[in-house]
Amino acid sequence: MSIQQIINQLKKSNHILLASHTNPDGDAIGSLISLGLALQEWKKKIRTYNESPIPAVYQFLPSLHLVHRTVGDISEFDTAVILDCSDLHRIGEAASDGAKIPAIINIDHHSTNTRFGNLQYIDPNASSTAEMVYRLISAMENVSIDRGMAYSIYTGIMADTGSFRFANTTPEAFDISHKMVLLGADPHKVAHHVYETISLNRIKLLNMLYDSIELSENGRLSIMTLTQNMLQTTGTIIDDVSGLINYAKQIENVKLAALLFERKRSPGKKTGSDFHVSLRSEGAVNVAAIATSFGGGGHPNAAGFDIQATLADLKQTIFHFSKNL
Ligand code: AMP
Ligand code: MN
Ligand code: MN
Repeated sequence: MSIQQIINQLKKSNHILLASHTNPDGDAIGSLISLGLALQEWKKKIRTYNESPIPAVYQFLPSLHLVHRTVGDISEFDTAVILDCSDLHRIGEAASDGAKIPAIINIDHHSTNTRFGNLQYIDPNASSTAEMVYRLISAMENVSIDRGMAYSIYTGIMADTGSFRFANTTPEAFDISHKMVLLGADPHKVAHHVYETISLNRIKLLNMLYDSIELSENGRLSIMTLTQNMLQTTGTIIDDVSGLINYAKQIENVKLAALLFERKRSPGKKTGSDFHVSLRSEGAVNVAAIATSFGGGGHPNAAGFDIQATLADLKQTIFHFSKNL
Protein backbone atom coordinates (compact mmCIF):
# COMPACT_ATOMS: atom_id res chain seq x y z
CA MET A 1 0.00 0.00 0.00
CA SER A 2 1.47 3.34 -0.94
CA ILE A 3 1.70 6.48 1.14
CA GLN A 4 -0.06 8.27 -1.73
CA GLN A 5 -3.21 6.14 -1.29
CA ILE A 6 -3.30 7.12 2.37
CA ILE A 7 -2.81 10.77 1.50
CA ASN A 8 -5.65 10.57 -1.04
CA GLN A 9 -7.96 9.10 1.60
CA LEU A 10 -6.99 11.78 4.14
CA LYS A 11 -7.54 14.49 1.53
CA LYS A 12 -11.13 13.47 0.94
CA SER A 13 -11.90 12.95 4.64
CA ASN A 14 -13.81 15.55 6.61
CA HIS A 15 -13.69 14.32 10.19
CA ILE A 16 -10.78 12.14 11.24
CA LEU A 17 -10.25 10.17 14.42
CA LEU A 18 -6.59 9.55 15.31
CA ALA A 19 -5.85 6.92 17.97
CA SER A 20 -2.89 5.06 19.43
CA HIS A 21 -2.48 2.22 21.94
CA THR A 22 -3.50 2.27 25.60
CA ASN A 23 -0.76 2.84 28.19
CA PRO A 24 1.04 4.87 25.55
CA ASP A 25 4.81 5.11 25.17
CA GLY A 26 6.67 8.01 23.54
CA ASP A 27 6.07 6.63 20.05
CA ALA A 28 2.30 6.20 20.55
CA ILE A 29 2.09 9.80 21.80
CA GLY A 30 4.58 11.34 19.37
CA SER A 31 3.04 9.80 16.25
CA LEU A 32 -0.46 10.75 17.42
CA ILE A 33 0.34 14.40 18.07
CA SER A 34 2.52 14.99 15.02
CA LEU A 35 -0.01 13.59 12.55
CA GLY A 36 -2.81 15.46 14.33
CA LEU A 37 -0.92 18.74 13.95
CA ALA A 38 -0.19 18.05 10.28
CA LEU A 39 -3.87 17.34 9.54
CA GLN A 40 -4.80 20.56 11.32
CA GLU A 41 -2.54 22.36 8.86
CA TRP A 42 -4.82 20.91 6.19
CA LYS A 43 -7.72 22.44 8.15
CA LYS A 44 -9.19 18.99 8.74
CA LYS A 45 -11.55 18.42 11.64
CA ILE A 46 -9.71 15.95 13.83
CA ARG A 47 -9.95 14.27 17.22
CA THR A 48 -6.79 12.74 18.69
CA TYR A 49 -7.62 10.02 21.17
CA ASN A 50 -5.85 7.86 23.72
CA GLU A 51 -7.76 5.91 26.35
CA SER A 52 -5.05 6.20 29.04
CA PRO A 53 -3.59 9.24 30.78
CA ILE A 54 -0.42 10.65 29.18
CA PRO A 55 2.60 9.67 31.33
CA ALA A 56 4.03 12.57 33.33
CA VAL A 57 7.40 12.38 31.53
CA TYR A 58 5.70 13.29 28.23
CA GLN A 59 3.62 16.16 29.60
CA PHE A 60 6.17 18.69 28.31
CA LEU A 61 5.31 17.95 24.67
CA PRO A 62 3.66 20.87 22.86
CA SER A 63 -0.02 20.42 21.93
CA LEU A 64 -0.71 17.64 24.42
CA HIS A 65 -4.03 19.35 25.16
CA LEU A 66 -5.12 18.01 21.76
CA VAL A 67 -5.31 14.46 23.14
CA HIS A 68 -8.74 13.41 24.46
CA ARG A 69 -9.54 10.37 26.60
CA THR A 70 -12.96 9.91 25.01
CA VAL A 71 -13.81 9.38 21.32
CA GLY A 72 -17.07 11.33 21.32
CA ASP A 73 -19.74 10.46 18.76
CA ILE A 74 -18.22 7.74 16.59
CA SER A 75 -20.80 8.23 13.80
CA GLU A 76 -19.30 11.66 13.06
CA PHE A 77 -16.03 10.24 11.73
CA ASP A 78 -15.51 9.23 8.12
CA THR A 79 -11.90 8.12 8.64
CA ALA A 80 -9.80 6.72 11.49
CA VAL A 81 -6.01 6.60 11.61
CA ILE A 82 -4.73 3.96 14.03
CA LEU A 83 -1.09 4.49 15.03
CA ASP A 84 1.49 2.16 16.61
CA CYS A 85 -1.11 -0.61 17.12
CA SER A 86 -0.49 -4.18 15.95
CA ASP A 87 -4.19 -4.87 16.35
CA LEU A 88 -7.23 -2.55 16.44
CA HIS A 89 -8.03 -3.76 19.97
CA ARG A 90 -4.85 -2.06 21.21
CA ILE A 91 -6.72 1.29 21.24
CA GLY A 92 -8.83 -0.05 24.11
CA GLU A 93 -12.56 -0.03 24.71
CA ALA A 94 -13.32 2.20 21.71
CA ALA A 95 -12.15 -0.59 19.36
CA SER A 96 -15.54 -2.21 18.75
CA ASP A 97 -17.24 1.12 17.97
CA GLY A 98 -14.17 2.35 16.10
CA ALA A 99 -14.36 -0.66 13.76
CA LYS A 100 -17.57 0.90 12.34
CA ILE A 101 -15.75 3.97 10.97
CA PRO A 102 -16.00 3.69 7.14
CA ALA A 103 -12.25 4.09 6.35
CA ILE A 104 -9.64 2.75 8.75
CA ILE A 105 -5.99 3.55 8.09
CA ASN A 106 -3.46 1.34 9.88
CA ILE A 107 0.01 2.88 10.32
CA ASP A 108 2.42 0.72 12.30
CA HIS A 109 5.89 -0.83 12.53
CA HIS A 110 5.13 -4.01 14.52
CA SER A 111 6.08 -7.23 12.73
CA THR A 112 3.02 -8.84 14.37
CA ASN A 113 0.57 -6.36 12.81
CA THR A 114 -2.68 -8.13 11.87
CA ARG A 115 -3.15 -5.91 8.78
CA PHE A 116 -6.53 -4.68 10.01
CA GLY A 117 -8.28 -1.76 8.37
CA ASN A 118 -8.94 -0.66 4.78
CA LEU A 119 -5.56 0.96 4.09
CA GLN A 120 -2.34 -0.25 5.64
CA TYR A 121 1.09 1.31 5.86
CA ILE A 122 3.19 -1.21 7.77
CA ASP A 123 6.95 -1.19 7.90
CA PRO A 124 8.66 -3.49 10.43
CA ASN A 125 11.99 -1.98 9.36
CA ALA A 126 10.97 1.48 10.56
CA SER A 127 12.48 2.46 13.90
CA SER A 128 9.12 3.75 15.08
CA THR A 129 5.66 4.78 13.97
CA ALA A 130 6.86 8.38 14.40
CA GLU A 131 9.40 7.75 11.61
CA MET A 132 6.59 6.54 9.34
CA VAL A 133 4.45 9.56 10.24
CA TYR A 134 7.43 11.75 9.32
CA ARG A 135 7.51 10.13 5.86
CA LEU A 136 3.76 10.64 5.51
CA ILE A 137 3.85 14.29 6.58
CA SER A 138 6.80 14.92 4.24
CA ALA A 139 4.65 13.68 1.36
CA MET A 140 1.68 15.90 2.30
CA GLU A 141 1.39 19.03 0.19
CA ASN A 142 1.34 22.39 1.95
CA VAL A 143 2.50 21.09 5.31
CA SER A 144 5.83 22.13 6.73
CA ILE A 145 7.03 20.48 9.90
CA ASP A 146 6.86 22.99 12.73
CA ARG A 147 8.53 22.91 16.14
CA GLY A 148 5.63 21.05 17.75
CA MET A 149 5.65 18.29 15.13
CA ALA A 150 9.44 18.13 15.33
CA TYR A 151 9.35 17.58 19.11
CA SER A 152 6.74 14.85 18.76
CA ILE A 153 8.51 13.00 15.96
CA TYR A 154 11.91 13.26 17.67
CA THR A 155 10.47 12.01 21.00
CA GLY A 156 8.78 9.06 19.27
CA ILE A 157 12.00 7.96 17.59
CA MET A 158 14.09 8.51 20.71
CA ALA A 159 11.69 6.57 22.93
CA ASP A 160 11.34 3.56 20.62
CA THR A 161 15.08 3.27 19.96
CA GLY A 162 15.82 3.48 23.70
CA SER A 163 17.74 6.70 23.07
CA PHE A 164 19.42 5.39 19.93
CA ARG A 165 20.67 2.19 21.57
CA PHE A 166 18.38 -0.62 20.36
CA ALA A 167 18.74 -2.68 17.18
CA ASN A 168 16.20 -0.44 15.39
CA THR A 169 18.62 2.51 15.57
CA THR A 170 18.99 2.88 11.81
CA PRO A 171 20.60 5.57 9.64
CA GLU A 172 17.04 6.76 8.87
CA ALA A 173 16.30 7.16 12.59
CA PHE A 174 19.38 9.39 12.93
CA ASP A 175 18.66 11.21 9.69
CA ILE A 176 15.09 12.13 10.67
CA SER A 177 16.14 12.98 14.24
CA HIS A 178 18.81 15.30 12.83
CA LYS A 179 16.18 17.03 10.70
CA MET A 180 13.85 17.35 13.72
CA VAL A 181 16.61 18.95 15.79
CA LEU A 182 17.26 21.45 12.98
CA LEU A 183 13.52 22.23 13.03
CA GLY A 184 13.58 23.08 16.73
CA ALA A 185 13.42 19.87 18.82
CA ASP A 186 15.93 20.23 21.65
CA PRO A 187 17.45 16.77 22.46
CA HIS A 188 18.62 17.91 25.88
CA LYS A 189 15.16 19.17 26.81
CA VAL A 190 13.55 15.88 25.71
CA ALA A 191 16.11 13.73 27.57
CA HIS A 192 15.79 15.93 30.63
CA HIS A 193 12.04 15.40 30.82
CA VAL A 194 11.95 11.75 29.80
CA TYR A 195 14.94 10.39 31.72
CA GLU A 196 16.36 12.85 34.20
CA THR A 197 13.41 13.95 36.24
CA ILE A 198 12.86 11.30 38.90
CA SER A 199 11.12 11.62 42.28
CA LEU A 200 12.65 10.16 45.43
CA ASN A 201 9.68 7.79 45.59
CA ARG A 202 10.57 6.50 42.15
CA ILE A 203 14.15 5.80 43.30
CA LYS A 204 12.72 3.82 46.23
CA LEU A 205 10.56 1.87 43.81
CA LEU A 206 13.61 1.16 41.62
CA ASN A 207 15.31 -0.20 44.71
CA MET A 208 12.45 -2.66 45.20
CA LEU A 209 12.44 -3.54 41.51
CA TYR A 210 16.15 -4.37 41.55
CA ASP A 211 15.51 -6.46 44.61
CA SER A 212 12.73 -8.37 42.84
CA ILE A 213 15.01 -9.68 40.07
CA GLU A 214 15.25 -13.46 39.86
CA LEU A 215 17.43 -15.45 37.47
CA SER A 216 16.77 -18.84 35.93
CA GLU A 217 19.16 -21.65 36.86
CA ASN A 218 21.17 -21.24 33.65
CA GLY A 219 21.33 -17.47 34.22
CA ARG A 220 19.92 -16.67 30.79
CA LEU A 221 16.46 -15.51 31.82
CA SER A 222 15.65 -12.76 34.30
CA ILE A 223 12.31 -11.84 35.81
CA MET A 224 11.52 -8.51 37.42
CA THR A 225 8.26 -8.03 39.29
CA LEU A 226 6.29 -4.84 39.85
CA THR A 227 3.29 -5.25 42.13
CA GLN A 228 0.52 -2.90 43.21
CA ASN A 229 1.85 -3.39 46.72
CA MET A 230 5.22 -1.89 45.74
CA LEU A 231 3.50 1.11 44.15
CA GLN A 232 1.43 1.62 47.28
CA THR A 233 4.40 1.27 49.64
CA THR A 234 6.48 3.81 47.71
CA GLY A 235 3.58 6.11 46.81
CA THR A 236 4.43 5.98 43.10
CA ILE A 237 2.27 5.89 40.01
CA ILE A 238 3.64 3.96 37.05
CA ASP A 239 2.33 5.27 33.78
CA ASP A 240 5.00 3.89 31.44
CA VAL A 241 6.82 0.64 32.24
CA SER A 242 8.77 0.48 28.99
CA GLY A 243 12.09 1.69 30.43
CA LEU A 244 12.14 -0.42 33.59
CA ILE A 245 12.72 -3.81 32.04
CA ASN A 246 16.08 -2.78 30.63
CA TYR A 247 17.59 -3.11 34.10
CA ALA A 248 16.71 -6.81 34.06
CA LYS A 249 18.01 -7.22 30.53
CA GLN A 250 21.40 -5.59 31.23
CA ILE A 251 22.52 -8.45 33.45
CA GLU A 252 25.43 -10.36 31.93
CA ASN A 253 24.49 -13.57 30.08
CA VAL A 254 20.77 -12.72 30.15
CA LYS A 255 19.18 -13.43 26.76
CA LEU A 256 15.56 -12.92 27.75
CA ALA A 257 14.14 -10.56 30.36
CA ALA A 258 10.56 -10.31 31.57
CA LEU A 259 8.84 -7.63 33.61
CA LEU A 260 5.68 -8.84 35.33
CA PHE A 261 3.59 -5.76 36.00
CA GLU A 262 0.54 -6.30 38.20
CA ARG A 263 -1.89 -3.78 36.74
CA LYS A 264 -4.84 -4.72 38.90
CA ARG A 265 -4.57 -6.58 42.15
CA SER A 266 -6.54 -9.75 42.50
CA PRO A 267 -9.47 -9.71 44.88
CA GLY A 268 -8.72 -13.27 46.02
CA LYS A 269 -5.45 -15.20 45.99
CA LYS A 270 -6.76 -18.01 43.78
CA THR A 271 -8.17 -15.93 40.92
CA GLY A 272 -4.91 -14.14 40.18
CA SER A 273 -4.25 -10.53 39.13
CA ASP A 274 -4.25 -8.76 35.77
CA PHE A 275 -0.63 -8.68 34.63
CA HIS A 276 1.08 -6.96 31.76
CA VAL A 277 4.19 -8.89 30.75
CA SER A 278 6.97 -7.02 28.97
CA LEU A 279 9.57 -9.14 27.20
CA ARG A 280 12.99 -8.11 25.90
CA SER A 281 15.62 -10.29 24.25
CA GLU A 282 19.11 -10.31 22.80
CA GLY A 283 19.87 -11.50 19.29
CA ALA A 284 17.94 -14.41 17.81
CA VAL A 285 15.52 -14.99 20.70
CA ASN A 286 12.16 -13.95 19.21
CA VAL A 287 9.94 -12.53 21.96
CA ALA A 288 7.24 -11.43 19.47
CA ALA A 289 6.54 -15.14 18.87
CA ILE A 290 6.26 -15.80 22.62
CA ALA A 291 4.01 -12.75 23.16
CA THR A 292 1.79 -13.73 20.21
CA SER A 293 1.28 -17.19 21.68
CA PHE A 294 -0.25 -15.44 24.73
CA GLY A 295 -2.45 -13.14 22.60
CA GLY A 296 -0.05 -10.17 22.60
CA GLY A 297 2.46 -8.93 20.05
CA GLY A 298 5.41 -6.67 19.39
CA HIS A 299 8.83 -6.81 17.75
CA PRO A 300 11.38 -9.68 17.64
CA ASN A 301 13.38 -8.16 20.53
CA ALA A 302 10.64 -6.25 22.40
CA ALA A 303 7.13 -7.54 22.90
CA GLY A 304 4.36 -7.80 25.45
CA PHE A 305 1.11 -9.45 26.41
CA ASP A 306 -1.64 -9.29 29.03
CA ILE A 307 -2.65 -12.22 31.20
CA GLN A 308 -4.68 -13.02 34.27
CA ALA A 309 -2.72 -15.30 36.60
CA THR A 310 -1.31 -15.68 40.07
CA LEU A 311 2.22 -14.33 40.39
CA ALA A 312 3.61 -17.76 41.27
CA ASP A 313 2.02 -19.45 38.23
CA LEU A 314 3.10 -16.66 35.91
CA LYS A 315 6.73 -16.87 37.08
CA GLN A 316 6.72 -20.61 36.51
CA THR A 317 5.29 -20.15 33.01
CA ILE A 318 7.97 -17.59 32.12
CA PHE A 319 10.87 -19.52 33.68
CA HIS A 320 9.86 -22.40 31.44
CA PHE A 321 11.27 -20.45 28.46
CA SER A 322 14.79 -20.50 29.95
CA LYS A 323 15.18 -24.09 28.75
CA ASN A 324 15.40 -22.99 25.12
CA LEU A 325 17.97 -20.27 25.74
P1 AMP B 1 6.00 -3.08 26.36
O1 AMP B 1 6.86 -4.10 26.95
O2 AMP B 1 4.64 -3.04 26.94
O3 AMP B 1 6.65 -1.75 26.33
O4 AMP B 1 5.78 -3.51 24.85
C1 AMP B 1 6.80 -3.88 23.99
C2 AMP B 1 6.28 -3.94 22.58
O5 AMP B 1 5.27 -4.94 22.47
C3 AMP B 1 5.63 -2.64 22.13
O6 AMP B 1 5.98 -2.42 20.78
C4 AMP B 1 4.16 -2.89 22.27
O7 AMP B 1 3.42 -2.17 21.34
C5 AMP B 1 4.03 -4.39 22.07
N1 AMP B 1 2.98 -4.92 22.97
C6 AMP B 1 2.95 -4.83 24.31
N2 AMP B 1 1.84 -5.39 24.82
C7 AMP B 1 1.12 -5.84 23.76
C8 AMP B 1 -0.15 -6.50 23.64
N3 AMP B 1 -0.90 -6.83 24.70
N4 AMP B 1 -0.57 -6.79 22.39
C9 AMP B 1 0.17 -6.47 21.30
N5 AMP B 1 1.37 -5.86 21.36
C10 AMP B 1 1.86 -5.52 22.56
MN1 MN C 1 4.26 1.74 21.24
MN1 MN D 1 6.34 1.99 18.31
